[in-house]
Amino acid sequence: MRVFNFSAGPAALPLEVLEQARAEMTDWAGTGMSVMEVSHRGKAFTALAERAERRLRALLALPPDYRVLFLQGGATGQFAAVPLNLAAQGSGADYLNTGVWSDKAIQEAGRLGVRVSVVADEAASHYTTVPERSALRLDPRAAYVHYTPNETIGGVEFPYVPETGAVPLVADMSSTLLSRPIEVGRFGLIYAGAQKNIGPAGLCLVIVHEALLGRARAQIPAILSYARMAESGSMLNTPPTFAWYIADLVFQWIEARGGLAAMAEHNRTKAERLYAAIDASGLYRNPVARECRSWMNVPFTLARPELEAPFLAEAAQAGLTHLEGHRSVGGLRASLYNAVPLAAVDALIAFMREFERRRG
Ligand SMILES: *Cc1c(COP(=O)(O)O)cnc(C)c1O
Repeated sequence: MRVFNFSAGPAALPLEVLEQARAEMTDWAGTGMSVMEVSHRGKAFTALAERAERRLRALLALPPDYRVLFLQGGATGQFAAVPLNLAAQGSGADYLNTGVWSDKAIQEAGRLGVRVSVVADEAASHYTTVPERSALRLDPRAAYVHYTPNETIGGVEFPYVPETGAVPLVADMSSTLLSRPIEVGRFGLIYAGAQKNIGPAGLCLVIVHEALLGRARAQIPAILSYARMAESGSMLNTPPTFAWYIADLVFQWIEARGGLAAMAEHNRTKAERLYAAIDASGLYRNPVARECRSWMNVPFTLARPELEAPFLAEAAQAGLTHLEGHRSVGGLRASLYNAVPLAAVDALIAFMREFERRRG
């Protein structure tokens, strides 16, 4: 039996994608082998790589002056790659802190000799808000501005894109890329670990404006160099071929469902339904300011915390899994990425109401 999986990552993948992967597992593209067993430099795989990039470009309406890189090392790898590629030792960069992931990016940049200015820190709200758009005071000489459009753990999402003028804007979109259309031209660099909305763990997408490719420090490891990866078609070394293949199937799945505009509608509907149910209840509560509630990750607490364990156990019994909050914050959380169907949200809401009636 397939459960309804609300995991924050690695997260649910579309059933149709899994079924296609199963159907061609032992003989992919007429090779007589699985996609995991072919050379990444062979015809079949390089065609896949090109097709995946074409599909992603079409989905995002990517301007031609952006490069797409299919990398490894996760979003955490990018916490280091961004400063090494974009900021000379000792130069300054502005970071916005809206939660756990922003903070990790800040710590890593600091360790790599960037003079980090934390230009906004939402600690006073316990990371349940984003900074006021008009309150941002950015340094026009900064090497870049970094922020996290969607904080996966706190469930806090920016309802706007910060204005950074000529300074490149860098966004960790691990839990929001492909959930809706975005205006890529506003960003210098976007990165996203695949395991939320894109595919399996092991792949990290980087979308970078080509003007930023020449700024890396001389000693940068080749594996982290955007320029080296761009030159080699992300095949400086063996890429994560299986994850790349699944990502291509996911792109195809999104395309067949109407692209990112359709995803936005689907995701907004799911999130609105769940927040409405939480707000209408006496037992459940979401702490995030309304205007910056995440469409992707919905954290909630119970008015009686002792009911958390029975809630999780009974939900799992009902086929609703991975509803526990991140280990660093506790509570509960439902992640509603593209591959989570509306039926899953309806089943969760029905379970929550029934649980509240019985135990609340
Ligand atoms: C999951 C996540 C990360 C960490 O991703 P890894 O691929 O595990 O390194 C970083 N940032 C955000 C916003 C995330 O959601």
